[in-house]
Parts: sequence; C-alpha cells; structure tokens
Amino acid sequence: MAKRDYYEVLGVEKGAGADEIKKAYRKIAIKFHPDKNPDDPTAEDKFKEAAEAYEVLSDQDKRARYDRFGHQGVNGGGFGGGGMNMEDIFSQFGDIFGGGQGSPFGDFFGGGGRSGGRRVRKGSNLRIKLKLNLEEVANGVEKKIKVKRYVACNVCSGNGSKNGAALQTCTTCQGSGQVRKVVNTMLGQMVSTSTCPTCDGEGQKVSQKCEACHGEGRELKEEVISINVPAGVADGMQLSMSGKGNVPERGGVAGDLLIQIEEEPHPFLKRDGNNVVFDQYISFVDAALGANIEVPTIEGKVKIKIDPGTQGGKILRLRGKGVKDINGYGKGDQLIHINVWTPKHVSNEERAMLEKLRTSDNFTPHPGKHEKGFFEKMKEYFA
Ligand SMILES: [Zn+2]
Ligand SMILES: [Zn+2]
Repeated sequence: MAKRDYYEVLGVEKGAGADEIKKAYRKIAIKFHPDKNPDDPTAEDKFKEAAEAYEVLSDQDKRARYDRFGHQGVNGGGFGGGGMNMEDIFSQFGDIFGGGQGSPFGDFFGGGGRSGGRRVRKGSNLRIKLKLNLEEVANGVEKKIKVKRYVACNVCSGNGSKNGAALQTCTTCQGSGQVRKVVNTMLGQMVSTSTCPTCDGEGQKVSQKCEACHGEGRELKEEVISINVPAGVADGMQLSMSGKGNVPERGGVAGDLLIQIEEEPHPFLKRDGNNVVFDQYISFVDAALGANIEVPTIEGKVKIKIDPGTQGGKILRLRGKGVKDINGYGKGDQLIHINVWTPKHVSNEERAMLEKLRTSDNFTPHPGKHEKGFFEKMKEYFA
C-alpha cells in the first residue's frame, strides 16, 4: 500500500502551523484510538498512521526534509514504515495525551491502562543559588534550603475546580479544542478551523472555580528541600533536581529545580582544581634549624615537620588532603608553599646578633645544583 501524504493523513494544509497540526492529530488520535474502537480492525492502523505523520510534521527538521524530499527524506531516519508500536506512540507523544485532570485527554486516555510512558504537561523550572564553603565542596554535603514553589492546590488537587469536581467537556467544541466554520465562497464550501473561544483550546472547562486557587490549580508554597551536593563541585556548576520546580496550571508534572553552585572563599586555603594551596611563612631561624609547625587543612589542623636547612619557595605536599574528584578519580592534595619570613624591624640586640652572623660562611648563599629554581618546582608539581 502506497504511503499517504502526511498532510492528507492529518487533514491539514501544507502550510499549517504547529498548533493546527497538533490539534488535528489529537482529534484523529481520539477518533481512532484502539481502546475506543474495539470493533474496528482498521482503527489501530489509522491511529498509527496519524502518529507517524505527526512525528514528522511536529519536528521542524523532519518536516523540512519531508517537504523537500517526501517520504524518502524521512524514512531513513529510523522511523516510518509502520514500525512504531503503541508504546512508542505513547512515550513520544505523551505530552499530547497527558495533562492529568486538567487535560482534554485525561478522560480519553487517563484510565486506559497505558500509564507507562505517558508524559504530561511540565511546569517551569526554578533557579536558585547555593553557597558552599570549601569543606562542603571537598567532601560533599546535604543542604536543606527553603524554596518557594508552585505546588498542586490541596483543595482541588490541582484541577482548579471547586472541591476538585471533574472538569466538564466544553460544549462549544465537544472537547476537541477547535471550532469549525463552513463558509460559502465562489469556489464552493470552505471549512476553516480555529481555536475554541470558549475553552481557549483546552477542550474542558472548570464550571465552578476552586476558591482557594481561583481556578489556577496551584498555590505558592514554601518548602524545605534537601539537596545532596556531591563532592568536588565547582563555582558556576549547575545541579538539577527533577520535579522540584513549579507545577503548571491545572495539572501536570513539576519542572526542575536548577541549583547554581557558588563557592565561598576560605580564609586561608585556596582551591586549585582538586588541590588546595596554602602559603606558610616560617622564620629564617626555623628554616635553618628545622621546626614542627601546624597548618590548617580542610579537615582541621595538621602537624608538619620543617627540615633543617629548608629553603624559601619549597613546596610540601599533604597527600589526599585536597578535594574529592567529582567524577570519582580520587582526591587532590594540599600543597604548602614555604615562604621564609624576613623581619622588617629588628631591635638593637637582634641587630648585634645578626651582624655577627653576617660574616659567617654558612649564612652566605651558595645555591648548588640540588637547589631547584621556581620553574622546576612548578613543573614538578603541575606537570
Ligand atoms: Zn484549587
Ligand atoms: Zn471548547
């Protein structure tokens, strides 16, 4: 059997708009839905044919290819050819069938046992910023935050009608959301269709509005949401929690909560990728004689040993004291930059002692081969 033209299948003109195509498809889908036509063996084929036509014509790219090349242009793409099964149709076009109580299709397909894969209208996303300190970034954290979001009205359960009463099928359009007008012209009768003015194309009407939400089916509510932040996130990253955004008007699923990470600077530690960098100043007495000192780390203070004869510019590494990798590739290190502190003022007594040392051979710089320059050190740690 030769394939029918997709526009012909849906009964629309070639230049039809997206809305018109969607409505035409809904109408055919309702008419030929196999559950509604148990005695008509051709119904399922017609239903599938319409779904295939809609899949192409509702997609800008596919439609453009179809317009240029006909069925040849779109059949290579893994669809068409009657290969779609009912599950595919419901999972791909569920947004048309769905919508829960507020949808014109709730009554048609809602109870049909096809809930698997059905999609419904989705509400808007919510965006928030989340400030984290270095400890939280390094190890991950569970954060509880207050969010104001639209949730289903609890008086009407979200359908917007008084006490949640069932919606009524629009009498103007009989639920199709469209009205047809027959106009007599010189060329004969022309039929034009337009969005139903009574129900604005929804096909159903709230006869008495819910007083709590004024028929909107939702209410703004403050909620405490617990966010599991994984270790290793970075400033500017975005996490998303599905279903924690706003619920749409009169039924559907909530949008997502999008969480933008902001890192608070640490008073002493600086993050560099998964490593943490700390500048430690030591006196030149400690540099010469060695010392045991304490340095701050993400997990608290840690004792480290300064070897006798330590030069300024040395970098010490504390393995595994950095930030956990976000992809699970281990943990960074803490790098301690040793700076030798030179006193800015000295007392007369100190001056006398230092003058004595000035001429000592040990205090005269003798950089040898084993003294690595700045660039060698950087190469060693960051190569
Ligand atoms: Zn309500
Ligand atoms: Zn209507």
